[in-house]
Amino acid sequence: MSRAETQPWPIGVFASIDAGLGVHLDVAQELNIPTIQLHAPHASSRTPERAKSFLGKLEQLGIRLTAVFGGFEGESYADIPTVERTVGLVPSATRAARLKEMKEISDFAQLLGCPVVALHLGFVPHDRNSAAYREIVAVTRELCSYVAGNGQNLHLETGQETAEALVAFMDDVAAPNLFVNFDPANMILYGTGEPMSALRLLGNRVQSVHCKDGLWARNPGDEWGQEVPLGQGNVGIERYLRTLKELGYHGPLTIEREIPQERERQKQEIAGAAELLASLRSKLLS
Ligand code: MG
Repeated sequence: MSRAETQPWPIGVFASIDAGLGVHLDVAQELNIPTIQLHAPHASSRTPERAKSFLGKLEQLGIRLTAVFGGFEGESYADIPTVERTVGLVPSATRAARLKEMKEISDFAQLLGCPVVALHLGFVPHDRNSAAYREIVAVTRELCSYVAGNGQNLHLETGQETAEALVAFMDDVAAPNLFVNFDPANMILYGTGEPMSALRLLGNRVQSVHCKDGLWARNPGDEWGQEVPLGQGNVGIERYLRTLKELGYHGPLTIEREIPQERERQKQEIAGAAELLASLRSKLLS
């Protein structure tokens, strides 16, 4: 473990091994970023041999893996209705296959010694008395119980629900290893609530975070907001870190910047985000 990451708020970046979301590992290395969250590789890459070689690479680079994010074939974030139709464990046609795949991803994460698996669950139905809602509660509980068997926690990415709805949902699942990966920009992009009040309401359920920024849409909730470089949006990054400090959050600050079609710009903007976070960290924690 490098000295940098024994401190609170180690900087991180969302990364991938193959063609998933997130930057390639060499970007983390070149920018000297000590932790990553990993977008789960495709099934063909989730072998014990690949796990061993990836783990060796992380050790050699001195990078710590803090979470493995599940993602599935057929998901699209093109617009809000498409997310609703395609993302996570909510769409019923793909649910059983995706649950099986999340369990395999949990097994792969365990081979990597990673204690956290995470995902976008999808748009949870709003009627807590509906059969559709109860099915999502049940599938989430089953996944929590499976990952617990691997000694892991499950983190739900925020965005598709208001914080109030997410708290109610987590209470209904009632699994001791269910937590939140808080993404303040998603609250803005999806129009699901003011990020700081959401963060306060979720409180110590938040066990990992994304550092991402965004601008509100003209009609929040009906159309996408716009993702922008960290510090240039409506999140208010200093206020974000102050709120995390108030909540006693000491975990990684994982930068997420999803412009995979523009690798050079993505790298530059991640470098800028890492500098901003490092300077705010010295300001707020010294
Ligand atoms: Mg995110």
